Amino acid sequence: MQRGFIERKGDRKTRHLIATDKGNALITVMPEQIQSPSMTAEWEQKLLGIERGEYEAADFMDGISGMIAGLVATYEKAKGADALMSRNKVIGTCPHCGAEVLEKQKGWFCSNSECRFILWKDSAYFTKIGKRLTSQIVERLLKDGRARLKDCKSQKTGKTYNADILLSTEADGRPQFSMEFDKRKGGNSDGGKSPR
Ligand SMILES: [Zn+2]
Repeated sequence: MQRGFIERKGDRKTRHLIATDKGNALITVMPEQIQSPSMTAEWEQKLLGIERGEYEAADFMDGISGMIAGLVATYEKAKGADALMSRNKVIGTCPHCGAEVLEKQKGWFCSNSECRFILWKDSAYFTKIGKRLTSQIVERLLKDGRARLKDCKSQKTGKTYNADILLSTEADGRPQFSMEFDKRKGGNSDGGKSPR
């Protein structure tokens, strides 16, 4: 009552504890199991049993700690799933400083805070050639310094072409792209290496 979650109503004979608005708000964020009045009643029954020597206090505590452990485990699992979703995946090593490159929501970032190596997911360079950076392309760029792109689209002419994108870095780590075009005209792409 001191915390303002409940208030007492009624006279001495019919005492009721009424949840305030604040109390009701608290109830909605608690696990359903704990909200249940039948569980509270069951606990009271057992406490009475302990008082009368009909029920072992240790059993009562075991029951409660078991239930709490279950609730915590469920909650932890939900939290774990959440963490899994937002965990930054290591996708390769930074070509500038050799630190890990992590995938985040907006792009691939060098984990070294001094290094400015970032590949944005909506990279303007790739948009210009009608492509979007994917983690597969980034993986290859980080591993080999280059990645083969098929069906790039010239914004001027609308023609498609294949090319190799080459990745290098500026002095502060910022990435720089350049392009190497197919030398063979009309030939099939080398066919030797196929993407995983
Ligand atoms: Zn780096």
